[in-house]
Amino acid sequence: QAKHAGRNRHAQFTWSMKERQNRTYDLEMGLRSAMANKELMLHYQPIFDTRSGKIAICEALMRWDHPTLGRISPAEFIPIAESCSMIEPITAWALEQACQDAMEWDENVRVAVNISPVLIKSDGLPRAVIAALMRSGLKARRLELEVTESIFLEDSGRTNLILSDLQRIGLRLALDDFGTGYSSLGYLRDYAFDTIKVDQSFMRGVEGNARHRAIAQSVAYLAHALDVETVAEGIETDDQLRCAREMGFTNVQGFVLSRPVPAPQVLEMMRLMDDDSGSVARLQDRRR
Ligand code: C2E
Ligand code: MG
Ligand code: MG
Ligand code: MG
Repeated sequence: QAKHAGRNRHAQFTWSMKERQNRTYDLEMGLRSAMANKELMLHYQPIFDTRSGKIAICEALMRWDHPTLGRISPAEFIPIAESCSMIEPITAWALEQACQDAMEWDENVRVAVNISPVLIKSDGLPRAVIAALMRSGLKARRLELEVTESIFLEDSGRTNLILSDLQRIGLRLALDDFGTGYSSLGYLRDYAFDTIKVDQSFMRGVEGNARHRAIAQSVAYLAHALDVETVAEGIETDDQLRCAREMGFTNVQGFVLSRPVPAPQVLEMMRLMDDDSGSVARLQDRRR
């Protein structure tokens, strides 16, 4: 019986492996033409200032509509792009598109673009950043690059140099998914980020759990002491939103405020908020 089950499991395993390999292959091939065929697009998720309730930043999140496989998650196609040397051209495209879109927005709203860790070591990144700024005319201070702690895993000395070169151009650096790496406090000590984005896993449970709240609160205090802005990521409930404000996070991002939406929709949201004295009602209520 056990032997039989074992064999079955094995057979199933090899089959799904093969399927997965086929899918990866299809996606890899598809990615090579996706840009030219205009299958890639950017959605934007607004990040709100907890004090004013206004949109402070919009994070660009890539979307891919594959002609036969449908909408593919970036969690699936970004790693594939990284492994087949497509990450550099699609990031260059995203940077330019994001800067162009941001030119339509209020001067005080920044645009954030996610940068894959494999690109930090490439000469192509500073070149792509400069090209995007020049072609769009966007001021460097309105562009924020989001990187994760994994960029420090090897040769952190070189990484520090590259990051400070990017900051010297005038753009801002955000440390994404803060707290999920091995040495989060070490990276915070060793590198002067402009923003830290506290991972959703740390915001979960803050409304009901004193331990969770103590950790999130300490991060907010620490960032404040270092003069670093904070974003509480993945806020899904009104209770979490209230906690994030009480703990003194600079900004909040999450489905309870807005999901990522296409560029025309984020522009529409900005217009509506302008008419409505400029802040999202949900945040305004909390202020009273
Ligand atoms: P990330 O940079 O940490 O982006 C946040 C992710 O959390 C997004 O998923 C967003 O839709 C989701 N999110 C936002 N608010 C909430 C919430 O309240 N609840 C929950 N459950 N989720 C929330 P998405 O768009 O699927 O992107 C996943 C990841 O893919 C991103 O994580 C980022 O690491 C990567 N990614 C997306 N676009 C790009 C890109 O253009 N370049 C690179 N290199 N990576 C990208
Ligand atoms: Mg991000
Ligand atoms: Mg994030
Ligand atoms: Mg995250």
